[in-house]
Amino acid sequence: MRLLAAAFLLVAVPSLAQVPSADPAMARRIRGDVEFLASDNLEGRDTGSRGHAIAADYVAAQFRAIGLEPGGEKGGWFQQVPFRRASYEQQPKLTLMIGGKPVALEVGKDAGLRPSVIARSRKLSAGFVFVGFGLKDRRYGFDDYRGLNVKGKIVIALAGTPAGLPSDVDAHLKSSKDLVAASEGAIGFVELPRNDGSTGRGDPVRRGGRPLVDWVDADGRAGSTPPGLQLLLSFSQDMAARLFDGAPRSLAAIRDEAKAKGHLRGFELKPVLAVESESKWEDFTSPEVIGLLKGSDPALAAQHVVLMGHLDHLGMKQDAKPGEDAIYNGALDNAAGVATMLEAARQFAAQPVRPKRSVLFIANTGEERGLLGADYYANHPTVAADSIVGLVDLDMPVLLYPFTDVTAFGADHSTIGATVADAGRSMGVAVAPDPMPQEAIFTRSDHYQFVRKGVPAVLLMTGYANGGAAAWGSYLGKVYHSPQDDLSQRIDWDSGARYALLNYRIAREMADAAQRPMWLKGDYFGDLFDAKGPRAP
Ligand SMILES: [Zn+2]
Repeated sequence: MRLLAAAFLLVAVPSLAQVPSADPAMARRIRGDVEFLASDNLEGRDTGSRGHAIAADYVAAQFRAIGLEPGGEKGGWFQQVPFRRASYEQQPKLTLMIGGKPVALEVGKDAGLRPSVIARSRKLSAGFVFVGFGLKDRRYGFDDYRGLNVKGKIVIALAGTPAGLPSDVDAHLKSSKDLVAASEGAIGFVELPRNDGSTGRGDPVRRGGRPLVDWVDADGRAGSTPPGLQLLLSFSQDMAARLFDGAPRSLAAIRDEAKAKGHLRGFELKPVLAVESESKWEDFTSPEVIGLLKGSDPALAAQHVVLMGHLDHLGMKQDAKPGEDAIYNGALDNAAGVATMLEAARQFAAQPVRPKRSVLFIANTGEERGLLGADYYANHPTVAADSIVGLVDLDMPVLLYPFTDVTAFGADHSTIGATVADAGRSMGVAVAPDPMPQEAIFTRSDHYQFVRKGVPAVLLMTGYANGGAAAWGSYLGKVYHSPQDDLSQRIDWDSGARYALLNYRIAREMADAAQRPMWLKGDYFGDLFDAKGPRAP
């Protein structure tokens, strides 16, 4: 999971409701898998590391033992994702022409420029266009680019969106501003914080120049670099304000306007930026692990339902002090998701009748680097792309209390919503609305990359009821993405078994139903990403 991780409220622990106990054998198997995958010996399963490769071998071995068939490349279990790590040996040179005078920018202090996985050398100069929030959306009537020509320009967008959008739509629009800029012909993209204080998300200027990992395929396409977008930039608050020198309105005035009106008109800016940079590249591969259970119905077996969970985590802490725990074990994020996916696979295999549709089980890589493995698979599937009809993502189940409700991200947009409700009812699990819309979880896990390909998908978050709010509060506040997400936590293995069973029942229903999962008629995401697909009333 890749959250914004803001501050979380700690709440008093209520008395816990009784939940039906789970099958102890299921709980034991999940525990065994988590204990292996989260062990110190795997060193945090970083994308491309030996620890992750060993974890991938383990998942493949489990797939074999369960009775799945290899679903990867060349008849094997794996799809090797071609990754590239880009970094700087020498800081890039950034010069801003303001009022006819060159201002040399100090990289890491005044500005940040993301290393490039597409162009080793960059030498260019371009002007800026402010585009308001940088949104373009037919349904909601946003067209912040109207009347502006951004071809060959660097686009500057203010972070955020106008108030009042549904949380999934809001999350989607916020996460696709760079794609919009690229599709409008911009060559660079900058997002400025909505406020002039701290953003609470680390310093984007310093972060901007850090080494980054992306996939780059044989055609030169990359995962997180939109085509044509050569510059992903950030500016300090001072420098950002100076970009508006000579403009119709100052940055401060725009920020006030955004608070008051929530809608902004863009305009061209005066400064011009010259860039010279050399990126250093290091190429490597890391596997997706794919197992297949063939469907039993001759008419439906060509369709695939996908269960996935990310196997990678954050690796080792680079700046650990002597004696400090340096291993990001990722026990809940996401050894627990992979272990519960394996248990769901065992449930499928244990039934006397195979599901009607085929089922793919995928352990993703590169999730913590930006949902990269899932994105690569979604763009290079090992089965026909249009045969993937529905998806269940298992990511970061917080198994620290006996959950009695779940939030089903993405489910409300398709018939999967009813499937989740049915499966939940069969186990006494309620479905609750998103308790933390500010975290935009809908776009922060692997299923979103398939939603973007038009596939109805769901991610279940263990809910806030029955001690969940307190458990989530302390997990996100102290443990999430830290070396403390390890086996010393009091993991409730029964909850793991129930999470596995719930996801199994949802996927089983998707695989057996007469109709494939369908977007609801008029749904925003269905209409955006699968305009021609079938619809449910
Ligand atoms: Zn994570």
